[in-house]
Amino acid sequence: MADKYRLETLAVREGIERSQFNEHSEALYLTSSFVFDSAAQAAARFSGEEEGNVYSRFTNPTVNAFQQRLAALEGAEAAVATASGMSSILALIMAHLSAGDHIVASNSLFGATLQMLNNILSRFGITTTCVSQTDVSAWEAAIRPNTKLFFLETPSNPLTEIADIRTLCDVAHARNILVAVDNCFCTPILQRPLDLGADLVVHSATKYLDGQGRVLGGAVVGAKTFTDPVLAFLRTAGPTLSAFNAWVLLKGLETLQIRMEAQSAKALQLAQWLEAHPKVARVFYPGLPSHPQHALAMRQQKNGGAIVSFEVKGARPEAWRVVDSCELLSITANLGDTKTTLTHPASTTHGRISAEARAAAGISEGLLRVAVGLEAVEDLQADLDRGLSRN
Ligand SMILES: *Cc1c(COP(=O)(O)O)cnc(C)c1O
Repeated sequence: MADKYRLETLAVREGIERSQFNEHSEALYLTSSFVFDSAAQAAARFSGEEEGNVYSRFTNPTVNAFQQRLAALEGAEAAVATASGMSSILALIMAHLSAGDHIVASNSLFGATLQMLNNILSRFGITTTCVSQTDVSAWEAAIRPNTKLFFLETPSNPLTEIADIRTLCDVAHARNILVAVDNCFCTPILQRPLDLGADLVVHSATKYLDGQGRVLGGAVVGAKTFTDPVLAFLRTAGPTLSAFNAWVLLKGLETLQIRMEAQSAKALQLAQWLEAHPKVARVFYPGLPSHPQHALAMRQQKNGGAIVSFEVKGARPEAWRVVDSCELLSITANLGDTKTTLTHPASTTHGRISAEARAAAGISEGLLRVAVGLEAVEDLQADLDRGLSRN
């Protein structure tokens, strides 16, 4: 279907394989294993001589449907689903790197990703150098003879810094280095890293792909030569996506485009309002002309996305007053939900790093992050204004 139909069509139609009951909605195959007609068939399935399902740690029809649909949306040959976003990153690295290899990564990656690279993989001989997301020459300077992977996430969380995917791919590919992009914030609706030269995309499907805060999931997306080793790792190591979660995510993908477009439009409106607010010092949103990389963001993404960060005038007490004055916005670190969420990064997601490191990373005490959902913008503004006007 992928070469024949447009994105919104693929989002609702791709990956459907009907059972003998000819159901209209996607079937949910809640089964751990599959039975064979004969000993010979069992042997052929196990050896791979005959295609077909064996055991849900290897393949499952509902999981396959989700993989096929997501691959179509990313413009990829294949996708491999995982139990969570973190396990997609782990599986990618386990499949493609070995002890002695080196990674160059953005220093503004998702916290758990940095933790995994710096504190877990380092124990197994895979080392990482972290550099500024926006400084191409720093990525180039960090390359060593054993560098195997560039890992980036754009826009970054929470400051929405943009990595220039195409330029970093040119730098990496000149040295035979793979490029993986965490496309969680944009989703394929707003940004398709493979079209810009990336080799692999990872997703936390937990966020926008589900979009309604129900399940955890993840995926690695790319050409089969790059995803097959990931599938081989999952088969053996086991962090596969459950059929139930795959089914929820399939339904999430059906509304992904209209959610991303509506949530991004609301985010832009909210960002413009915040930028004009007398109690707001600064707004970080790639869709605003004031964003230092606005032009790059608008080339690379369809719009500014649905995450807006801003600094209140003042410090922690003023930021917390805004949080504690909200009646509508959910105080939670999650994002990608239809319900708008509000986070104070310095005391939550970035609370465990030292104050100096936080300051160096630009995470000030007055910074707040809003992951805009589907509520009326006027209601979101009134909720934030209650605390801001008390400052
Ligand atoms: C949440 C998140 C992850 C981790 O995903 P989980 O599904 O929570 O494991 C990875 N990258 C980014 C950018 C995220 O926001």
